Order: sequence, then C-alpha cells, then structure tokens
Amino acid sequence: MRIEGDVPLGRLTTIGTGGPARAHARPRSIAELEEALRFAEVEGLEVVVVGLGSNMLAADDGVDALVLRLEGELAAIEIRDDLLVAGGGATNAVCLHRARARGLGGFEFACAIPGTAGGGVRMNAGAYDRDWADVLVRALVATGEGSRWVAPGELGLSYRHSKLRRGEVVARVEYHLEPRSPHEIKQTVKELVARRKATQPTNRRTFGSVFKNPGGELGAGQLIEHCGLKGLRIGGAVISRKHANFIENADGATSGDCIALMVEARRRVREQFGVELKREVVLVGGIELPPI
Ligand SMILES: Cc1cc2nc3c(=O)[nH]c(=O)nc-3n(C[C@H](O)[C@H](O)[C@H](O)COP(=O)(O)OP(=O)(O)OC[C@H]3O[C@@H](n4cnc5c(N)ncnc54)[C@H](O)[C@@H]3O)c2cc1C
Repeated sequence: MRIEGDVPLGRLTTIGTGGPARAHARPRSIAELEEALRFAEVEGLEVVVVGLGSNMLAADDGVDALVLRLEGELAAIEIRDDLLVAGGGATNAVCLHRARARGLGGFEFACAIPGTAGGGVRMNAGAYDRDWADVLVRALVATGEGSRWVAPGELGLSYRHSKLRRGEVVARVEYHLEPRSPHEIKQTVKELVARRKATQPTNRRTFGSVFKNPGGELGAGQLIEHCGLKGLRIGGAVISRKHANFIENADGATSGDCIALMVEARRRVREQFGVELKREVVLVGGIELPPI
C-alpha cells in the first residue's frame, strides 16, 4: 500500500472543494487498513476516512491528516442468505443493485443517498423514514489496536449521528434484508428517485443536506427558504433554488464560500425564527462554523 502526499480533497468530495491532504492511502484489506492506522499513530497524524465525500466539506488550505479511502476487499460485497456483507467502502448503489439481483429488499431507501456503507454508519444516513439503524446488524470497526465487531446499540445511532470517533474506521458491515421481488424493488426505487429529482438538485455538485432538520414544523430547507435565501451567492457557491438546504458549487466555489453561506443562513434563521440550525455536513481540516 502506497502512502502519497498532496492529494487534493476537492477530487474526493462531491462538492469538489478542499485543499491537499498531508497523506493519502487506499488500503485494500483489513491488514492494510490496520497498518495505515498504526502508521498514523506513530506519525501522530489524525485519520480521516473519505467514502464518496458526499457529506463532507474540507478546508481550502488542506487537511493535516492521513486521508483513507477503502478499496479492494474493503469495498467488496457478498450475500449470505438474508445478510448482505459489505466492505466499508462499498457504495450504496452497488449494495442496492446486488440486493435487488438476489431478491432482497429493505435497502431501497438508500437509492438516492450517494455514499458508502461506512459513511452510512457514521452518519446514520437515512431517507423516507428509514435509516442505517433499521438494516445494520453489526459493523467491524478498525483502529490502530485492531478490529472488532460492534452492535448498533454500541454505535449509538440516532438522527444523522453515531458515536464513532475519528480514527475508528468501519471496515465491514452486515445488513439484514428481507425477501422481496426484484420487480417490486425496481418500482420502489424508480418512484423514490423520481421524488428526489423533483425536489432536490441531484444533478449539481453539493454535499447533501447542509443542516439537520431542527424537529419543529418546518425543516431546515423551509426555514432558509422563508428567509428569502434561495439563490444567494457568495463567491462560487449558491444556496440551491431547488432546495434551500443544499449549497451548490456553481462555478469554482471554495469551502470558504460554502461556510460563508452557512453562517449567513444560520444567522438569518435565528433572527427570523429563533431557531439555531445545527450542521449535518462533516467539516474536516480544522474548519468550524463560528459561534452564532
Ligand atoms: C445529492 C445528495 C443527496 C443526499 N441525500 C441524503 C439523504 O437522503 N440522507 C442522508 O442521510 N444523507 C444524504 N446525503 C449525504 C450523504 O450522502 C450521506 O451522509 C452518506 O451516508 C455519506 O457517505 P459517504 O461515504 O460519502 O461519507 P463521506 O461524506 O465521505 O463522510 C462522511 C463522514 O463519514 C465518515 N466516514 C466515511 N466512511 C467511513 C468509514 N468507512 N468508517 C468511518 N467513518 C467513515 C467520514 O470520515 C465523515 O466523518 C446526500 C448527499 C448528496 C450529495
């Protein structure tokens, strides 16, 4: 396994922003992953795993960390009876495709979540009233000390949250699925994808939801929209006209532009509604939203 330097995070994130990582490796097996984690420990480097980078915003001046992407057997998928076993780097799209081919349903909700198994666990990603906690049986979590299977209870999965810390890497997952005809699965996915396309900027560079829904009557997107912020542009970043809880990279955006939009949206929503929006997107490289 090669450890490289200077790989721009902008190439690894769906929004397309972010400066270089101090070090970058693509482990292909548990042994290589554990070796990379030990290397980081010895070098005193923070570890950042990037799945598809679909809910991540990285500092423009770079990330002083070992950035890992899981490949090879760490992205492979196997089906055993009603159990889908996937590497932490396996994409949701391929997991869903394999499940459908074997007549296993229950993962259709993930059809419009452009991430990996590991990112799904870390974020407890979800849509249409289902999330990772509904399908996850257990996850193999690797650290510099070795790997162990962890049950969902211990992972503390709640709304877009898990207790996983940086440096704890989901190397493999097991999903429990239910028999369902491939035709029915295909129909459900078609309907869900059509709903998505109608309401979200799926053909633009974004990092998914900017803020978590605050739990009241109005979602984060509606609150931002009611503040008249759709279409607000700072630098190359724009609050989506299709869904105000998305920021689009319209033209050469930086992470700084995105942060500036987040600060403005959060300020205006607090002023107008008294609601303090909390971010959903993961920030890496020492950037943070300033206190409100
Ligand atoms: C168009 C669009 C639509 C979206 N719709 C939804 C939606 O409906 N619901 C939803 O919940 N999300 C949605 N998202 C956000 C995103 O797709 C999910 O959060 C997804 O689960 C992130 O997965 P990822 O592999 O890309 O993680 P990344 O974005 O790469 O990383 C996110 C976090 O997970 C960590 N991580 C990644 N892999 C691992 C691993 N193997 N082990 C440990 N930690 C890991 C990262 O370090 C980081 O902290 C959307 C995003 C986009 C761009």
